[in-house]
Amino acid sequence: MAKVPKPKSSLLFYYGLALFILAVFNWLGKPYLDEGKVKTVDYSAFLEMTEQKSIERIEMDENRIVFKGTDGHKYQTGPMTDPKLVERLKDSGIPFTAEIRETPSLIMSLIVNWVLPILIFFALGQFMSRRMFGGGSGPGNMFSFGKSNAKVFDPASATIRFKDVAGEDEAKENLSEIVDYLHNPNKYTAIGASMPKGVLLVGPPGTGKTMLAKAVAGEAGVPFFSIAGSEFVEMFVGMGASKVRDLFKQAKEKAPCIVFIDEVDAIGQKRHGAVMGNDEREQTLNQLLTEMDGFGGNSGVIILAATNRPDSLDPALLRPGRFDRRVPVELPDLEGREEILKVHAQKIKTTTDVDFHTIARMAAGASGAELANIINEGALRAVRSGRSEVCQADLEESVEVVIAG
Ligand code: ADP
Repeated sequence: MAKVPKPKSSLLFYYGLALFILAVFNWLGKPYLDEGKVKTVDYSAFLEMTEQKSIERIEMDENRIVFKGTDGHKYQTGPMTDPKLVERLKDSGIPFTAEIRETPSLIMSLIVNWVLPILIFFALGQFMSRRMFGGGSGPGNMFSFGKSNAKVFDPASATIRFKDVAGEDEAKENLSEIVDYLHNPNKYTAIGASMPKGVLLVGPPGTGKTMLAKAVAGEAGVPFFSIAGSEFVEMFVGMGASKVRDLFKQAKEKAPCIVFIDEVDAIGQKRHGAVMGNDEREQTLNQLLTEMDGFGGNSGVIILAATNRPDSLDPALLRPGRFDRRVPVELPDLEGREEILKVHAQKIKTTTDVDFHTIARMAAGASGAELANIINEGALRAVRSGRSEVCQADLEESVEVVIAG
């Protein structure tokens, strides 16, 4: 699955910002921190020290008089209405000065009063939104607004081929044209033919529709996007539509590719025009229609959608230029069931006398998924009875478990 790396620069930005804020507070707070080292004395003590000339230097402002004693300590006292003070200080010969009060520069006060708070709020806002809405677009994150959540499989990691899908020869034959097109689109464009944009895989659950879609991508060696229709319909109106947009944007970037939408009926159901219609689903469906109309027949993006109820789909979705091709994926017949059993039995150890034909006959009406389950249940039963190989009785027993429940 492709993972989008998080930009590291944003982290650096936050570190920088934190350092900057620290520096500013340090600088603003420094005078107050220094205060701790200054000893506060009475005015009378100040006068006494002045007379004894035990002061090196005096600094005053309207709030206090700060002076450094000959003992090296710093003292301060509150100012008094003392008209003779200047005269007395002059007589004592101690250097004294009043602080020149600088009006803070306009730029500085602008930065401190306006720019800094705005920056802090902005940074906080960014941080919060990342915390709440970010964290990638993984499924289960309800705040991953507008991201499609589609799983992407690289061609390199696609291991399913047509040979893994047993039975379903008709469906495979239908889909092999698409594989051929993805391999060699020029053959089709040269003559002016365009591929269907959408193919509907119609069949009951567990018959291998997802497998077939993956196999098409695997055979053609193109990326495979997979998403379930229900994943589009979120609790917020408009989110589904933006997910569709995002999905198609990603797909177009990776074209040629296969987009697989499972349970497409979750978004593609007929619109009834009821008063209390499902706005979200309709918007999502409309966006899907718009996106499908938006790209050309030969753009290399082919959408495969799976459904069990084609008759419940909105006719707009089935119009030419959209999902105009149907591939039935039926429950496997006897031969198909036997093949499927054999494909899955390759993954387990069986005794040589296992008769898959009998098992297939016993499992009438089973889907591919159920047959895969029968094999697995048989293997579990063998383990339970402490054997290292699966025998006929294990499989016969598990047919009953899986089919009859
Ligand atoms: P669907 O999408 O039609 O519901 P899936 O493709 O998800 O079905 O199939 C579910 C599982 O059933 C597969 O992972 C596979 O193990 C098994 N299966 C279904 N059909 C077949 C088949 N024709 N050949 C081999 N395995 C199958």
